[in-house]
Amino acid sequence: MSEPATLLETPAVPSAEDSAAAAEKAAAHAALKLEKRLVRQVAQAIGDFGLIEDGDKVMVCVSGGKDSYAMLDVLRMLQQRNGHKFELIAVNLDQKQPGFPAHVLPEYLTQVGVPFHIETQDTYSVVKEHIPEGKTMCSLCSRLRRGILYRVADELGCTKIALGHHRDDMLQTFFLNMFFGGKLKGMPPKVQSDRGDHLIIRPLAYVAEDDLSRWADIRAFPIIPCTLCGSQENLQRKQIGQMLRDWQQLYPGRIENMAVALRNLVPSHFMDPRQFDFKGMVPNGVQDADGDKAFDPPEFPAQAVGTLAGLSVMPR
Ligand code: SF4
Repeated sequence: MSEPATLLETPAVPSAEDSAAAAEKAAAHAALKLEKRLVRQVAQAIGDFGLIEDGDKVMVCVSGGKDSYAMLDVLRMLQQRNGHKFELIAVNLDQKQPGFPAHVLPEYLTQVGVPFHIETQDTYSVVKEHIPEGKTMCSLCSRLRRGILYRVADELGCTKIALGHHRDDMLQTFFLNMFFGGKLKGMPPKVQSDRGDHLIIRPLAYVAEDDLSRWADIRAFPIIPCTLCGSQENLQRKQIGQMLRDWQQLYPGRIENMAVALRNLVPSHFMDPRQFDFKGMVPNGVQDADGDKAFDPPEFPAQAVGTLAGLSVMPR
């Protein structure tokens, strides 16, 4: 008769194969969860702001960076789910920057089967010619790029132009405008072009940059470096980005809460008479949760709580 197992018996050590299989399963589970979140958040932004409607032909601007690859990827998933009731066409502008690997995007887009157009325009030489060495080239470069992309959108018959800005870009823009521009102005999910003739949409409005980085790793997108032009990243934007990351580390959930705040304005509690008629104000006898409590100090929950239209503000 064999000896009964005792409580002191050493537990079996999992084999290397078992550990690898468990890690693989956990990674697949995490990837599926992330995919669902990305699809849900993009679908929610599309619904909340009317970004894409049946019959639209959306020009998806792809630069070869993680954000635009992910945007195209998720929009394709949604297109399949809605039975291809809208069209997608990926557009890349090859600005002839030195070392730009012109074959990468056409190869990728052909492989995944997305219609695409590569527009080749040597804006790099134009910018180099007009901007003195050491000065930032971005404003002229992006002005030229914008004009070209609007023309291409017209030529391709596109009804919307999708850009890959995400939630964190939007928050950074909000703080940049406040700190340096003296304006409470963000980066909207849907806006008309400065010429008033094109609709720009940002389907990643609710998506966190960290999620896009993780998705780019999972999908192994062939990323094209964004430093080919030799221009420095805008220093102020960089500082704001770091400020937001530091806050988030010290106070988890703060970024989510700020992102929700951008959708939850109380115009009567700013000081812009163009947004609220302060002069014509009289007490109307209606209870208002946002009304002033006179001398009570304002109260806030210890941590961001709740959701706004299904958008969780709790740390994930
Ligand atoms: S970083 Fe380079 S490519 Fe991008 S806008 Fe600036 S100059 Fe143009």
